[in-house]
Amino acid sequence: MTDRYDVVIVGGGIHGVGVAQAAAARGHSTLLIEQDELAGGTSSRSSKLIHGGLRYLESGRIGLVRESLRERALLLRLAPELVRLRSFYFPIYRATRRRPWQVRTGLSLYALLGGLSDDTRFGRLKRDAWAALDGLRTDGLQAVFRYRDAQTDDAALTRAVMRSAEALGASRAMPATFAAAKLTRDGCEVEYKHDGTEHACHARVMINAAGPWVRAVLDRIEPVPTGRAVVLVQGSHIVVRGAIERGIYYVEAARDGRGVFVMPWRGDTLVGTTETPFKGDPGEVRVLPGEEAYLAEVLHRHFPRYAGEPIIDSFAGLRVLPVGRDPTFRRSRETVLHPDRVDRPRLLTVYGGKLTTYRSTAEKVMRLVASSLPDRDPVADTRTLGLTAS
Ligand SMILES: Cc1cc2nc3c(=O)[nH]c(=O)nc-3n(C[C@H](O)[C@H](O)[C@H](O)COP(=O)(O)OP(=O)(O)OC[C@H]3O[C@@H](n4cnc5c(N)ncnc54)[C@H](O)[C@@H]3O)c2cc1C
Repeated sequence: MTDRYDVVIVGGGIHGVGVAQAAAARGHSTLLIEQDELAGGTSSRSSKLIHGGLRYLESGRIGLVRESLRERALLLRLAPELVRLRSFYFPIYRATRRRPWQVRTGLSLYALLGGLSDDTRFGRLKRDAWAALDGLRTDGLQAVFRYRDAQTDDAALTRAVMRSAEALGASRAMPATFAAAKLTRDGCEVEYKHDGTEHACHARVMINAAGPWVRAVLDRIEPVPTGRAVVLVQGSHIVVRGAIERGIYYVEAARDGRGVFVMPWRGDTLVGTTETPFKGDPGEVRVLPGEEAYLAEVLHRHFPRYAGEPIIDSFAGLRVLPVGRDPTFRRSRETVLHPDRVDRPRLLTVYGGKLTTYRSTAEKVMRLVASSLPDRDPVADTRTLGLTAS
């Protein structure tokens, strides 16, 4: 007999596990199918920030920043072992495109959107404090602002959310590859390969949370559903030996004015990110030599003491962004949720999004598919479910 689930999810990145947790919390039978390992895709290759996204203010994404700051506050409470508040430093040189008054205005708005809580306090450092900033270059330096945001281990967070989902009754097939699905009157017949064997199950609703593979999954569904036009944009990071200690620096790349983060990471320093158009198989994404050179240049320019240090690691992830004319860093980071139909959807596709807002996104997904699901007794509320590191 075919297994039957309320919700079947393809993809064990942060969105897939977030939906698994939210679905199981509502009492739904849930299966998650992941082809590789949890967080094997983008969710282990992010900048690892749980943040409002200060720079999104520049493109007027007020709603996204407010939602992200709300989720940040929640995650600091629910996952204190995994999400930690850090000091962020924003240095402004004579040549920096953003002027001190602009940064002060941005940080004021950021604090306002964060409810003026303690975590949103910011200030301008006194000159005599500059010497303690990890060797930050001071010639031409005009001001340094300090504010706070949070850092996590993205893969560990993803695993923690899946553990929470499983504790609520969700199941997982892994490594298991989604092979095909057929949309029927009342749901979806899903086929996948697990342990070398073909499996089939029935889902009242299937969630396509395959990240950069989202289009490949849609192409295997019959009848082929309409989708959103998206592009993949590669973002790379390098790891350089030796830890930056005071906190996270948000610096401007001289070449193109983009913001780049320099962060402590497992005793070394993580620098990222880039924005490079990508075409091809998402599994083949690799850091390009030009990206390494760009990030090293930004690091050395701001922290000359790293000039002789080797790059000891690097990784690349793929953003899923709407097609558009704007430069990629100005395109919407808002998650797009696309059901195959408004009433009783059988399929819902998740495009793009942020690690930070995974929980609120998962709750939105569940509201959008509620008409396809039977009433069940909720067993938990994701707003109060704690997450632990192991
Ligand atoms: C460079 C970069 C930096 C970022 N930095 C931040 C940040 O600092 N803070 C923040 O909030 N957000 C950040 N983001 C955004 C965030 O990382 C992503 O939105 C998020 O990780 C996407 O998760 P996902 O679950 O949608 O996709 P993924 O994590 O890619 O998961 C998709 C999963 O689907 C699986 N899959 C695909 N096809 C199949 C199949 N046929 N069968 C079974 N499984 C399949 C894959 O193996 C993969 O595990 C960043 C993104 C990038 C690219």
